[in-house]
Amino acid sequence: MKFKKLMKYLNLFTAYIFAKCSNTTPFVRIIPTDKCNLKCEYCWQHKNSDLEINEEEYKLIVKKAINLKVGIISFLGGEPLIWRFIYDAIKLCSDMNIITDITTNGTLLNKESIMRLSENGLDFLNISVDGVTTVKNLKCIEKNIEYLRIARDKYGVKIRVNAVITTKNFDEIMMIIEYLNQYRIPISLGYAMPSLEHKRMEGEIFFSEQDKQLIDTIIKYVRTKKKEGYKIIDPIDYFENIYKYIRREKFWECNYPGVFGWINVIGGCKIRSCTKKMDELNYSYLDLNSKKIKELKLLLLEMTKECNKKCYSNCAYDSYYYKNNKIKLFKKLLN
Ligand code: SF4
Ligand code: SF4
Repeated sequence: MKFKKLMKYLNLFTAYIFAKCSNTTPFVRIIPTDKCNLKCEYCWQHKNSDLEINEEEYKLIVKKAINLKVGIISFLGGEPLIWRFIYDAIKLCSDMNIITDITTNGTLLNKESIMRLSENGLDFLNISVDGVTTVKNLKCIEKNIEYLRIARDKYGVKIRVNAVITTKNFDEIMMIIEYLNQYRIPISLGYAMPSLEHKRMEGEIFFSEQDKQLIDTIIKYVRTKKKEGYKIIDPIDYFENIYKYIRREKFWECNYPGVFGWINVIGGCKIRSCTKKMDELNYSYLDLNSKKIKELKLLLLEMTKECNKKCYSNCAYDSYYYKNNKIKLFKKLLN
């Protein structure tokens, strides 16, 4: 297993160098379905359309990814575990030495699904404890903790948890953080944001100036826990800068689609501009080449100027932050 992991990281390194030299991209995000078995109030990326990637399309996408020298394929949704090809999809990538990463809401995790993912070569398992009442989802982790530990310790699957902070759930978030710390499982935390189409709903689950006391409590708590060595992934700046986001200041630049070139592929092998949007661009992943990827990146950068004003995605912010704080990135990698 260690040799297999080594081969995958070697492939990723090659993919990265190739991407630098040829203007391609070492990463692909696959959104096999937009369907989800939950209905989170803050969700940006869920609809019940029948559009999904079929088995044949998936094989063509992987063939193309190999051709473009891709090093990591991520599976997102919707809920990727409701896509019936997910286990074979991961195995196919693993056989080709491509690193795989999946983000699931965790509700479909059980002994069988965790073991199948691990045996098929999954490398990263991200469990989003989504839903305003996250305790229900924490139970998905609690009841599976032994299998998750086997996945991590025996199969080398890197596990992390994501959670969304709303104005109503911070007590539960603290419970989750304490629970995960016992097992040294890292957690990434993002503030809930109203979706691009919605007007801001003050006083709902989204933060406003009126929540100053709660926000200050969150910042203080996160700072303390980080100092105590808790594995909270996002930098403290993310939590502190919520005030700037509330005031609609321009203080960060999303570099996700353009610089790092994450390409999001949906049913029909079409491209979506961002996993947080539900659009479909006039590009097919199967037609991409170096010239078209360059053109696509420019289009995505242009589109990002608009959505960036309303978005405070923690993962996109983290990417921007560490790109501009190399020493902090280095320290983080050492940890
Ligand atoms: S689990 Fe994720 S995709 Fe599903 S509704 Fe919640 S936020 Fe949306
Ligand atoms: S700012 Fe970035 S992460 Fe947010 S919606 Fe736009 S492209 Fe997506």
